[in-house]
Amino acid sequence: MQHELLILGGGCAGLSLARRLAAIGQRSPETLLLEKRASYTNDRTWCFWSEPTAELNHLVYHRWANISVSTDIDKEVVDCRPFTYAMIPSLAFYDESVEKVAQSTKIKLDLGVSVHSTPQKIGNLWFVETSTGTHSARMVVDTRPTEVPNHKESLLWQSFLGHEIECSVPVFDPSIAELMHFATVREGRILFFYLLPTSTNRALLEVTVFAEEALAPESLKKELSDFIDRRVQGLSYTVQRTENGILPMNPGFLSPQIDPTYVKAGLFSGGARPSSGYAFQRIQRWAETCAQALGAGKPPTMHPMDPMALRMMDGLFLRVLNRYPEMAPNIFLALFQKVNIARIVRFMSDQATLSDCAVIASALPPMPFITEIFSARRRAKYP
Ligand SMILES: Cc1cc2nc3c(=O)[nH]c(=O)nc-3n(C[C@H](O)[C@H](O)[C@H](O)COP(=O)(O)OP(=O)(O)OC[C@H]3O[C@@H](n4cnc5c(N)ncnc54)[C@H](O)[C@@H]3O)c2cc1C
Repeated sequence: MQHELLILGGGCAGLSLARRLAAIGQRSPETLLLEKRASYTNDRTWCFWSEPTAELNHLVYHRWANISVSTDIDKEVVDCRPFTYAMIPSLAFYDESVEKVAQSTKIKLDLGVSVHSTPQKIGNLWFVETSTGTHSARMVVDTRPTEVPNHKESLLWQSFLGHEIECSVPVFDPSIAELMHFATVREGRILFFYLLPTSTNRALLEVTVFAEEALAPESLKKELSDFIDRRVQGLSYTVQRTENGILPMNPGFLSPQIDPTYVKAGLFSGGARPSSGYAFQRIQRWAETCAQALGAGKPPTMHPMDPMALRMMDGLFLRVLNRYPEMAPNIFLALFQKVNIARIVRFMSDQATLSDCAVIASALPPMPFITEIFSARRRAKYP
């Protein structure tokens, strides 16, 4: 079957683009979205720093006006207002997106269809082999993730495992999101706990590791169950849902574009912010720009390259974390203790000004950053 546009993968990026194409009506190219899952489940939650105008606000399930960063001996609680840290359950997003796509006469979503091949161009058409036959189109947006992370493909990997639990009695404070509670660094791995309470009885608790290698969720099980036991202090609880992920943390993680009519997008193709792994809001911004381009009869767009200052800061930050993992707790504590939250939110949301970058750089412990800058210069001179 021939189409104008094929979107491969109907997760966050594929559906974000499709729902925006649905919103532009008849200007949308005639599109087929192929997704290998037969149905959607609540497989993840997306959190992000939200300003009052942030898109998809109506899907936000919970907001936190306070966040904390801590170690066993030090804790910083930050009042984020007027900003908030917001959470969207993925199923709310999937369901609404599927509904919007179903109402469009220009876009079709085929669930349960697996793409088997790398798209091949013959003449001016791309051909894709799938579990239900061959599809062709003038343009392709490929959002399929890397199946098995190749360790060498990222400077650091963020691996995490979480349970959403329900306790029989109130134990949580739903006004504070615990962003990072650091454990002692062992074997060069930065390990921290993340706790997002959505009520006094219910919370998502996760264990996250930043390390050179991607970790399977099984290897994080013990840390997670110990963390939950500590937090619920022997009270009974039930696990409502489990989520896990492996996210690349790599400056310059952009796939080269081979043809303007074939674009890779999503988590592994520039969708994730290198220094944090946050991707949801970046994917939304990309989807908006890409849909506008397609609506104007232009080819699809890639994720934009981050500004030079941000790329340099993210790169330096990741190299420092990689080389001095034991300093990570102090680096993150210093950031939240010394820098105004508005600057941090702009930095985390890719909106940092040069002055934000300068203030953040000056708040961090200088030694590892200066040493890393000199080592990088030495490496460049004597590779
Ligand atoms: C558990 C979890 C929690 C996260 N939390 C946050 C967060 O709080 N904030 C944040 O900013 N980011 C978060 N992220 C990172 C990022 O936002 C998500 O990974 C996001 O879903 C990435 O979107 P994507 O479209 O690139 O990938 P996905 O959403 O994974 O979509 C890719 C789609 O491609 C489909 N697919 C794969 N192979 C094929 C094939 N061969 N044929 C057809 N379809 C295929 C998959 O089934 C999937 O639906 C989280 C990630 C995970 C895994």
